[in-house]
Amino acid sequence: MDFLRPMTWEDALAAKAAHPGALPVQGGTDVMVEINFDVRRPEALLDLNPVRELAEWDAVDGRLRVGAGVPYVRVIAELGDRLPGLAQASRTVGSPQIRNRGTVGGNLGAASPAGDSHPPLLAGGAEIEVESAARGVRMIPAADFYTGVKRNALEPDELVRAFWTRPAAGPQYFSKIGTRNAMVIAVCSFAIALHPGERRVGTGVGSAAPTPRRAAAAEEFLSAELDWEGRGPLPDSVARRFGDLVREAAAPIDDVRGTADYRRHALAVMARRTLAWAWNDHRAGTAGKEAS
Ligand SMILES: Cc1cc2nc3c(=O)[nH]c(=O)nc-3n(C[C@H](O)[C@H](O)[C@H](O)COP(=O)(O)OP(=O)(O)OC[C@H]3O[C@@H](n4cnc5c(N)ncnc54)[C@H](O)[C@@H]3O)c2cc1C
Repeated sequence: MDFLRPMTWEDALAAKAAHPGALPVQGGTDVMVEINFDVRRPEALLDLNPVRELAEWDAVDGRLRVGAGVPYVRVIAELGDRLPGLAQASRTVGSPQIRNRGTVGGNLGAASPAGDSHPPLLAGGAEIEVESAARGVRMIPAADFYTGVKRNALEPDELVRAFWTRPAAGPQYFSKIGTRNAMVIAVCSFAIALHPGERRVGTGVGSAAPTPRRAAAAEEFLSAELDWEGRGPLPDSVARRFGDLVREAAAPIDDVRGTADYRRHALAVMARRTLAWAWNDHRAGTAGKEAS
């Protein structure tokens, strides 16, 4: 197996163009497991670790551009105040070792329906910046990035450069059900983001459909129902209807981690719960704080 080690982003794109079968490796927390278990035997590995640009993040025109190689531990420490939903999700990934090596870029590359970064990226309206040597940059809304079980919108010659998202303009929460508290793949997960300036709600559903997905009808319903200006109490009927619509957005399966029925039920509960947390923050004016 060849081991390609570009030192710059341009060289990485050139290497991917010349070797479309080369498997990118960033933290390696998915790739190395697959190779060890002989799930994959790529013709080459394309090591992106020396590419410094990938490990950087920046604020550009009011948005954050976060390099594909920024590990979870830095998302939590450096971006937790601006991206609280993603930081909460990052805290639930694996163990300290996995969070030191693993990246959102790798989560996007793997595109598992259970990947923890996907629901907050969806709820926050993130875009994924991908690039190829031949065609340059494409910006793909997170909602269009996941195309099937462990499949994404990348062409064989493309790499993920970064994700773009706005710093939280309101409360964000992430909730995950696992069979224990750490080192666990989500049975199902849910993210909510309130965008009070736009009077809009964002959602992301994880591990309850072939791809991570938004609960669009739930977003539309809640955006219209919330008392954005008056900040009145959350009517129970609104929370329940929101939960029902989130449940209806899911298309789960029965598997070793849980049944479809359980996932639907749990999603409705998580939706109501995270909404209550978020709405309480909005009422109290403590939007955007990271929950620990
Ligand atoms: C013990 C353990 C626990 C885990 N727990 C969790 C968990 O709780 N939640 C969770 O979501 N995941 C979990 N994972 C899975 C994994 O850690 C995550 O998916 C992580 O985000 C992968 O990041 P990485 O940088 O290590 O990716 P890598 O393993 O390097 O790559 C993953 C995939 O992305 C591709 N890729 C990487 N970078 C790029 C790029 N720039 N452009 C295009 N493709 C790219 C690779 O080719 C590969 O297909 C766990 C893994 C292990 C081993």
